[in-house]
This record gives sequence, structure tokens and C-alpha cells, in this order.
Amino acid sequence: MSLAPEKILSDLIRINSSNPPGNETAVALYLKEHFQNAGVAVEIVEPEEGRGSFIARIGAGPKRLLYLSHSDVVPVGEGWDFEPFSGEIKEGIIYGRGALDCKDLMAAQVSAALQLIEEKTPLQGELIIAATADEEMGGRLGAGYLIEKHPELIEADYAINEGADHPIIIDGRMLYFLQVGEKGTAWCTLKAHGTSGHGSIPTLADNAVVKMSRAVSRLHNYRAEVVLIPEVEKLLRNLAELCGIKVESLGPDQVDTLLEELPLEKSFVESLRSMTRMTVSPNAIRGGSKTNIVPDYCEADIDIRILPGQDCDYVESELRLIISKDIEIEFNEYRAPTFSSSQEPFYKLMEEATLEAAGKSALCLPGISAGSTDSKFIRSSGIPAYGIGHMAEGFDPRVRTTVHGRNERTDIASLQLKTKFLKELARRYLS
Ligand SMILES: [Zn+2]
Repeated sequence: MSLAPEKILSDLIRINSSNPPGNETAVALYLKEHFQNAGVAVEIVEPEEGRGSFIARIGAGPKRLLYLSHSDVVPVGEGWDFEPFSGEIKEGIIYGRGALDCKDLMAAQVSAALQLIEEKTPLQGELIIAATADEEMGGRLGAGYLIEKHPELIEADYAINEGADHPIIIDGRMLYFLQVGEKGTAWCTLKAHGTSGHGSIPTLADNAVVKMSRAVSRLHNYRAEVVLIPEVEKLLRNLAELCGIKVESLGPDQVDTLLEELPLEKSFVESLRSMTRMTVSPNAIRGGSKTNIVPDYCEADIDIRILPGQDCDYVESELRLIISKDIEIEFNEYRAPTFSSSQEPFYKLMEEATLEAAGKSALCLPGISAGSTDSKFIRSSGIPAYGIGHMAEGFDPRVRTTVHGRNERTDIASLQLKTKFLKELARRYLS
């Protein structure tokens, strides 16, 4: 079997592991064959039939490094210009669902491990390769299950996973991101009560829809407190410098001015903004039943994303400052934010390995994601985890929108760069 990451990725794409239903065991069995051929014992943990997660470990010694990816993909939907599960490779491009999320990372991790074995690289520790199920539906049957039931299988000093933005180019320099944190969610429903009455004499009633609309409008105008996590401050300072903007002091008060000045793509600037504060978005509202009845009840669903260091109490105290106290706040989904420091010595190795793979002119900066990956389980169990999104110079930035969308694809050069980075990182940390 070939060790080339593009061949592995092409094979992986051809295994349809759309979730639902998942069928990740088919991916696990494919990986098993590769590792068994290389003389490595593997484990497949299957909490439900067909929903297997794969774990292989190479090397031995006290240090442990976890390379994590997920083996499920989101359903393909309609409107593709090519067959989503062909895995076709043409003119340097690899086509199909999972090419960027995240069978590419899996192929690179597997290829890097197999190359280390083949080259007999002496390792003073274990490299653990884990391809887990169910990430796209929350990870309960994959990384979540392993952390809860078999933590010993993936216990490590550090983990590398998906999760960072793709690189951007500023002034001809490739800028790579290392994801150090993920925002949490604190979804809630607001409930307004009133007194119903006839629509012809509304002054005798108390209109719950009007009450809620006031609250929603205040939420819309709410300006969340700016919080500068040191890693994000570093990111903003470096971006400013690269864009030729002089920043003497950068406190929370200067952040929005700087964001206005950065001559970068709007979507990128807004993702930077989301790294500096809680976001609050009222996204659904239900109330009233008939034109001539004053409604006595109205509710609204609010999508709230919080930064590392913030929690439900923080959200509630902020909401209480802006909405009246007769509106109830009910939290219905809470997931804590997670964070791994860039002060770990391992972080330096990631920077070095990136430069080794991408060239000395590349630059690495930390970032925080608005969404979440399986890193939430890994970090919650005490293992620092870092997300990468490394691509090679010249990659097509339009591929970003194909993740979870149509026409997902990647290029061989980016896949090879990822593989080189991972191989280099394992070599540096484990030998
Ligand atoms: Zn993913």
C-alpha cells in the first residue's frame, strides 16, 4: 500500500462515512490494514455497530503525542460539479467530501506515521494516531466516548487536531494559524409573559410580543465588553505590524479602531472581532396567534458564544443589565469554552515545524475559533490541544467555502505540506 498522503486521502474519500449514519468503522478497517502491514497493533472501539473509532500507537517511551482527526463527514447535499465520493486526483487536486474536513488531516497524520516507521526514525515516546467517529454530530460516540470510557487509549502530553483557519497572505508572507482555543456556547430562551385581551382595546392588556421585541432590540444593540486574551492580543499586534499599522498600546478600547483599519477581508476581520468578545444573536422568536388577540406569551432563542474565561453566570449578569427582570432566561444548551496556552514549550515546536515545512519566511500566529471541534473533549480532559489548518503557498482560497458545502477539494501540495509538518513535529517532540 502506498504511503503517499494523496493516495490515502483518495482512498478515504471513497469510503462514504456521511454522518448520519456515520459508518466510520469502514474507515477504521481501512486504516487498520495500513498499520498492520507496517507491523503496528491497532484498536477499534465501537460503542455502536458501525461507529468505530481507530487508535494506533507507534514508538515507545514516556512522552506521548496525539494526532487526532475525525472519520465522519457531513452529508453531501445537492448540486456538486463532480461525484462527491470519487476521490479523483486530477492536475494536483484531490476531489470529494472530506478533502478538507478532515480526511486530509487524517491522511497526513497516517502518512507521516507510516513514513516515520518506514524510515526507522528512533522515537523516544509514543505517537498516537486516533481517527474518531461522530464529530460532525457532536462527537459523543467518538472522541467523547473515548475520553469518558477509555481515556488511557488517547491520553497524551499534547494533541494536534483540525480547527485553525487556513493561512492568509500578507505582503507576500504566508501566515499560518495555530488554534489555541474554541469559544463556548450558552444558548438560551427568553420568555416574556403578559396579559391577553381583545385586540380592539389593547390598553386593557399587556402585550408579551411588544415586551419581547423591546428586549430583542436591546440585545441587537448590545455592545459586549472587549476582552483581550494574550494570544489574541499577539495576533492583532502582529497583523497590524504586517499591514504597516503602528500600534503603541493595544487595550480593549483600541481593538475596534484597529479592526476598522486592518486592510483585510471582511470575513477575516469579523472572525477577529469574534475572538475579542462574547457574541449575542437573537435568532428565533415565537409569540401571538391571531390578529385580534393581544398575546400573553412570547419567547425568543438567543445564540450566545462565549470566550475562554466566561461562563453562564457571566452571560446571565450581562443579559440582566439590558433586559427587564420580568423576562425569564432559560439556558438550554451550554458548552464551556476551551483553551490551551501558547506558553507551552510544545507550541514553539509547532512554530518550528511549520517553518520547516513551509519555508523560513512563513509566520505562525495563535487564534481562537468561534466554532468547536473534538478538541473540546481533549482539552476538558486536561490535554493541551492545538488545531491546524496548514495549506501550501498558492492554494486556492475559494476552497474554504467548500467545507460542509459543495465541490469540496484540496491540493496535493497542501496535503504534502501538512504531512511534512506532522512528521517534523513528531520527530522534534519524540526524539
Ligand atoms: Zn471537521
